[in-house]
Amino acid sequence: MDDSFAQRAHAFDDGSIGADGFVVVGARYGLGPGAGPHCPICFGELTPVAGSGGRFRHCDEDDEARCALSTYSYQPEAPRFHRMRDPVLEREQRRVFIENWPRHYQAMRRAAPTMTVRRFSYLVGYADVMNLWSYPALEQHDLPYLLLTQAQFMRAGAMGGKPVWVRFCFDATVRDVGDLWTQQGAHARFFRMMYSAPRDTPFPTAKELIHYETVRRDTSFLETAPPWIKRADMKEFERFAIAGALPADVQRATGTL
Ligand SMILES: [Zn+2]
Repeated sequence: MDDSFAQRAHAFDDGSIGADGFVVVGARYGLGPGAGPHCPICFGELTPVAGSGGRFRHCDEDDEARCALSTYSYQPEAPRFHRMRDPVLEREQRRVFIENWPRHYQAMRRAAPTMTVRRFSYLVGYADVMNLWSYPALEQHDLPYLLLTQAQFMRAGAMGGKPVWVRFCFDATVRDVGDLWTQQGAHARFFRMMYSAPRDTPFPTAKELIHYETVRRDTSFLETAPPWIKRADMKEFERFAIAGALPADVQRATGTL
């Protein structure tokens, strides 16, 4: 047990941290009598916070420490990559993606209007080094959403004159990227989380969470006409696609620089 965990555990005891809890939309309920609500994101069991007007927190401290609804980490977990490189699959699946990149980019901008071609390029560069294209069951229509989870925190304009940040995550069905392409993964819920600007940390934590909502994943956008893309953006992506990505770009895409 490290110091920070001990401090947090103590803080729970005296109720000074985590006492506010969070609002739950779309909680999952267990089966049978007495089965309490479960977190829509991490599936952990929830308990109401007394006197909070309908707010909850996780029963389990590990869930509370890790879940996007309650974590005080500004580097929350994103789905992990765990795949050996397969050069043949990689070439084919990446080629299909690059051919359709304006459609993927547009699908991402619908969920995150501040997404830029530069950031999109960084994310594709990150996917390249993490062997995304070597997942044999990869479904192209899931890629905009998967890439958004890897983008971590992004500036998202302003609400009421104050800057806001956005982040996306899947529910706990998708821990490894490959989980997305299982029978359950196809139905994994995808969440958009909005934050106020961080005060004490480089990126927001659950302390700054304003609200969150489920975003419907469009599975048919690849069948629509390609969107119009600004000439400068076309050129920038083409330059990236030809040159490949630098390691520094990859770190910037994932918020680790
Ligand atoms: Zn949770």
